[in-house]
Amino acid sequence: MKLSALFLACGMAASGLAQAFDEPTRTTAAELRDQALRGSGAYDTIASLTTEVGPRLAGSEGDKKAVAWAVKMLKAKGFDRVWTEPVRFPAWTRSQESAEILAPFPQKLAITALGHSEGTPAGGIAAEVVRYESLEALQADTSGRAKGKIVFIDRRMERARDGGGYGPVVAARTKGVNAAADKGALALVIRSVGTDSDRFPHTGVSHYDEKQTTRIPAAALSNPDADLLARVLGYGKPTRLKLKLDVANGPEVETANVIAEIRGREKPEEVVLLGAHLDSWDLGTGALDDGAGVAIVSQAGALIGALPQAPKRTIRVVLFANEETGLVGAKAYNSLHKDELKHHIIGAESDFGAGPIYRLSSTVPDALLPALDGIVKELAPLGISRGDNTSSGGPDMRPMQGDGMPVAELAQDGTDYFDFHHTANDTLDKVNPKHLDQNVAAYVVFAYLMAQH
Ligand SMILES: [Zn+2]
Repeated sequence: MKLSALFLACGMAASGLAQAFDEPTRTTAAELRDQALRGSGAYDTIASLTTEVGPRLAGSEGDKKAVAWAVKMLKAKGFDRVWTEPVRFPAWTRSQESAEILAPFPQKLAITALGHSEGTPAGGIAAEVVRYESLEALQADTSGRAKGKIVFIDRRMERARDGGGYGPVVAARTKGVNAAADKGALALVIRSVGTDSDRFPHTGVSHYDEKQTTRIPAAALSNPDADLLARVLGYGKPTRLKLKLDVANGPEVETANVIAEIRGREKPEEVVLLGAHLDSWDLGTGALDDGAGVAIVSQAGALIGALPQAPKRTIRVVLFANEETGLVGAKAYNSLHKDELKHHIIGAESDFGAGPIYRLSSTVPDALLPALDGIVKELAPLGISRGDNTSSGGPDMRPMQGDGMPVAELAQDGTDYFDFHHTANDTLDKVNPKHLDQNVAAYVVFAYLMAQH
């Protein structure tokens, strides 16, 4: 009796799951998915952004062009409403940068300044180099050997599908400049946070501690150049480096978050938030970071907007300003929309390139779990499985997630992502159109079903 009761209970639970969505809703989701797979059009959107706008460093002329481009693009895709919200911050600019080994074996090096870096004096900084194998080794050093020198943090990033190699290494980029200044160094150079062996240095933001009274320049060497510098240091002779960075932390500028909606027909105040960021680094054209995300979420929204009947809830696409130098647009959105956040039923950002999605993870209350399980069933034909309920929703979702918004992560295969991330080599040819369509298919199913559940 007990066993059959248990069997019955399981059976009921299983049929409960199967009915997370009714038949017409599931049919529409499957049609949207298959339509995206046949050719979503998202590739054309990235091609347009990277060709007509190109690099769009936050606060630059390119960034302004990108905002105008995005408004036009979202209107053309048929969203019900498209608008911008201002975002302000001090802009950072890059003019010229170079580095060379002066002794014992003179050679030029491929280098790039880190975002927010101070410039060097016009004639550059020339000093002896001291190597550390990690940020932690630098922080722990009490010998005084970095004083008056150029500190070199030489930690290599490991390749992984989920990008797990990034976290342990990126602290050298974000915090190394404070540690080096604390030790009396004149400048910081790091091995690029990237998995390639190309001669493209990887930029990215460094966060100067507000308590830091001495702000020193900071830059990254390409991986082969970091290898070279390490070999030169291996000779055990004093190694002198010259660093010239013509960069500046400039005046306050204004740019914008670009927002578009497909208005819900039953509960329009309830929002499914899809995000990506519109800004890019200045070295490449930001095809992967984050032109891909911009195209994926815009196209997913547009496909839902083209349905004969709008979904129950609103789909809101937000193309965030200035993700790269500190989630500035996301923080602005969060403070402007604080009162509405309780009606943001879920948020997800696409900001990890264009690799195929393989897993749906989340951080949601228990009440939303059946809907996510139902969504995974419709995503299964795309090769997507269910992850756990402890994920992040992407960088720009963090401020809202911090204030209680449920989030989902449509995890992309990022095996190659850090070969190109933040380099001059992040260009359109790195985007696989088929993989991009799979991403749109996943996002459109996710967004539509979340808006319908
Ligand atoms: Zn990004």
